[in-house]
Amino acid sequence: MAILPIFVPQAACPHQCVFCNQRTISGEKRTGLAGVLRQIHTWLPRLHRTAANEAAFYGGSFTGLPLGEQARYLAPVEALLKARVIGKIRLSTRPDYIDETRLLFLRQHQVTLVELGAQSLDDRVLQLAGRGHTAAQVTRAVQLLRQYHFQVGLQFMVGLPGQDWNSLRATAARAVQLHPDIARIYPLLVIKDTPLAKMYAQGRYQPLSLEVAVAQAAFLYEQLTGAGIKVIRVGLQPDAELCQPGNILAGPFHPSMGELVQGYLRQQQVAAILRRQKYVPADQVLLRFPKRLESQMRGQHNVNVKLWRELVAPATLILERF
Ligand code: SF4
Repeated sequence: MAILPIFVPQAACPHQCVFCNQRTISGEKRTGLAGVLRQIHTWLPRLHRTAANEAAFYGGSFTGLPLGEQARYLAPVEALLKARVIGKIRLSTRPDYIDETRLLFLRQHQVTLVELGAQSLDDRVLQLAGRGHTAAQVTRAVQLLRQYHFQVGLQFMVGLPGQDWNSLRATAARAVQLHPDIARIYPLLVIKDTPLAKMYAQGRYQPLSLEVAVAQAAFLYEQLTGAGIKVIRVGLQPDAELCQPGNILAGPFHPSMGELVQGYLRQQQVAAILRRQKYVPADQVLLRFPKRLESQMRGQHNVNVKLWRELVAPATLILERF
């Protein structure tokens, strides 16, 4: 399966979310139909024709565009669907741009999955982030999407202004109740030319450390996946434009955030087991794991192994890959 990504940066956004500079995140400077066609033509030669391929509109409030404009953007991917080059069309939008008229339109244009930027389900956090919608609107949008038989995706952030552990726990609990088909988790970064960059420069926003961002993303990941929700991405794609010097001003950026989160979860799972035992110097604790999990098991710079060694001391910890 491959994704044919089409960015429509900040298209039809009625608000400026404090953290958002989609042109920097996506690297896409051209907008309108010309931008859509250029991206399709760039990606098309790399796609092997299969129904598992998906065209995906990202980076704006797609359903906020006038219906005629949505139709013009969708037409070339509908043609690819008809030619069986792709098998699915998905798009991202805002929760307050979901209603019956728009959903009937999307069904006619063969969209099957709609991702909503929820970011948080705490109204105070949403307000501080300048989102311009409430948690109740997220709930209503998810209900409508279900009613019209769409698959639903929800995007969440950790590290938003005013978001503490309690807020995150409450968001996780509500997200589990909403039960989207897929979810994404993004630790918040301070990107240049955003209101957040100004808040950061004025000392009004402090980003999460990498350590705390990993712990919070891991918590959300565990809650969602534990409820059977598929988390398809953790952390922003480290593309060339985003990683240009000067674009990320601060915040817990790591090119392999997903791997860090998996490593943290392994660390906690094994540590919980090791803590239940009492060890003596003669003990040997054997930890066996599949070779493919080695980097997750060790964690960044062997941090997991160091912690586990401390937990089993004075016994010896032996690692065995199979
Ligand atoms: S709605 Fe989405 S694309 Fe638009 S400003 Fe907010 S985060 Fe950016």
